[in-house]
Amino acid sequence: MNVHDSERLAGLMEDAGYVRAADDNADIVVFNTCAVRENADNRLYGNLGRLRPAKDANPGMQIAVGGCLAQKDRGEIVKRAPWVDVVFGTHNIGSLPVLLERARHNAEAQVEILESLETFPSALPARRDSAHSAWVSISVGCNNTCTFCIVPSLRGKEKDRRPGEILAEVEALVAEGVLEVTLLGQNVNSYGVEFGQRTAFSELLRACGKIEGLERVRFTSPHPKDFTDDVIAAMAETPNVCPQLHMPLQSGSDQVLKSMRRSYRADRYLSIVDKVRTALPHAAITTDIIVGFPGETEQDFQGTLDVVAASRFTSAYTFQYSKRPGTPAATMDDQLPKQVVQERYERLIALQEQISWDLNREQEGRVVEVVVSEGEGRKDTATRRLSGRARDGRLVHFNPAGVVDQEIRPGDVVTTQVTYGAPHNLIADGELLSHRRTRAGDNWAAGRKPKTSGVTLGLPSFGAPATPEPAAVGGCGSR
Ligand code: SF4
Repeated sequence: MNVHDSERLAGLMEDAGYVRAADDNADIVVFNTCAVRENADNRLYGNLGRLRPAKDANPGMQIAVGGCLAQKDRGEIVKRAPWVDVVFGTHNIGSLPVLLERARHNAEAQVEILESLETFPSALPARRDSAHSAWVSISVGCNNTCTFCIVPSLRGKEKDRRPGEILAEVEALVAEGVLEVTLLGQNVNSYGVEFGQRTAFSELLRACGKIEGLERVRFTSPHPKDFTDDVIAAMAETPNVCPQLHMPLQSGSDQVLKSMRRSYRADRYLSIVDKVRTALPHAAITTDIIVGFPGETEQDFQGTLDVVAASRFTSAYTFQYSKRPGTPAATMDDQLPKQVVQERYERLIALQEQISWDLNREQEGRVVEVVVSEGEGRKDTATRRLSGRARDGRLVHFNPAGVVDQEIRPGDVVTTQVTYGAPHNLIADGELLSHRRTRAGDNWAAGRKPKTSGVTLGLPSFGAPATPEPAAVGGCGSR
């Protein structure tokens, strides 16, 4: 969500006439902060401190801070770092160009934080990072109250976009060569709650299935509490919906789930996994797990290990619980000692790593379709492989020899056979079985990235293809 907001910020800035800096000497630096990660504030103030000499040397330079941490800390940011020019929150990212202008004109810092959403972020222009794959927000905010999570207090209640607007944005992206979209919401399964349509998400998946040229549809994140069978049926019956599910478990203990205020229980979670496996036997199921939540006993933790063993996740994002100020869990009794959490965490990792590896070994011999990506294979130069994602989301490193139409570009599609299932990825060292050049690959080769001009009132508008631009050096963007 945060990365996609950064694309909106980049689009807004371009529309306001700013040009992406080609090196570190930017006149404006925008931090889009996230409060979910640990130590987000230390990292922000560290980064701001490092920028201070550049700002002192160039008084015309402007620094803006937005996102969740800005929403949380508000005026505190300019108190702790008075060389910051603009602070804006999660509800008014569209105000950034105006606030920069006002700060320049008035020669004083501008802090503007709103309590509710001013404009749905998708109504703002976006400069996309990838030529072949795009994020599309279907909702923002969350109506749940998980006790470890700061999101509801910073992003507000769930706001759903109308299906027509979402589909118009997807069509606009496909018209610009995008092959794959990921539908984004804090809880995609409650999509439609605002306009009273319980089956809205499954209908949206099916509608995406009718969009000509859209090859892959993914979504994140579902919530086990609201996951309904019509979504599983839509996943199975819509050919361009990928056989992949990232469904946060958080804990396998009913007692811990209760104290996390996550209103499903382990047996419900497992029953969804069973149904998905029945409907989509090759689906890759991944998850998020928190170890060491306050009050977690050894028996509770064993419950998590049991659900992990039964679910056979392809991979899992595992986290050691740590307090987030402002959340109910931060003040709960029974915070666990670090060494207990660490020891459990290591046991969980060992179990999950073994499952991941076993499942990847089972992929050996399978033919996979891979959309070629950029920057996902750190060792590609040494191994002379290229990398990309299979339909189920697995990372595949492949030998780019065999059936090749001219050259292979990011965004092109190849098929190849898996020769080795490594612990965290698949290797395909045989010759390619096919290579399809795509418009996304053409756009990548020409240095063009999709730009959507914002979608309002169901009417799509299309951004002109960008001219080739030099490689960007970060400015905004943090997960
Ligand atoms: S479902 Fe829970 S963890 Fe996810 S955003 Fe909402 S409150 Fe946070």
